[in-house]
Amino acid sequence: MPVLLHTCCAPCSASVIEWLLINNYQPTLYFFNPNIFPKNEYEIRKNELLRYAQTLKLSAVDDDYNHTHWLVQIAGYEREPERGQRCAICFKIRMMATATQAHKLAIPTFATTLASSRWKNIEQINTAGTAAAERFENMSFLAKNWRTNGLADRRAQLLKENKFYNQQYCGCEFSVRKEKTV
Ligand code: SF4
Repeated sequence: MPVLLHTCCAPCSASVIEWLLINNYQPTLYFFNPNIFPKNEYEIRKNELLRYAQTLKLSAVDDDYNHTHWLVQIAGYEREPERGQRCAICFKIRMMATATQAHKLAIPTFATTLASSRWKNIEQINTAGTAAAERFENMSFLAKNWRTNGLADRRAQLLKENKFYNQQYCGCEFSVRKEKTV
């Protein structure tokens, strides 16, 4: 079954892609993450993901990067903590773009790798995905907990095996901090 997989980065994507392939899904990857700052960090994460897609011979859609517009969309919530309102908006933006892209490509199902990080609120992500799917006829959001049934361990294994670049913060400038977060 075809599925459009919104991918936030290579470390969060590998075990999800593997699960989808094992379970007879045909994923097309979709990179849309205008939240990532600075541009250099965005390019590193994107290129790492595209390199991995090439290795697996998977198609990937590389969508536009407009961080200035993203900042306008989250305006007023800059000081929110992670897992707060700013993140809920950030997920809505990315899930809406993914549903729109899936509709354009006539792919009836979409999913996201965002929830594979234990630092993110899975309910916020599923709410955003489900709401975005409801905007289109015959569209469904594959809501799955990508941290259970050994997937979290597999994520760590694949990260090591592939020597992925592993970022130290979620993505936006408001999430930059000293300790490791993703
Ligand atoms: S912390 Fe992460 S999820 Fe939250 S707004 Fe920033 S980039 Fe988006």
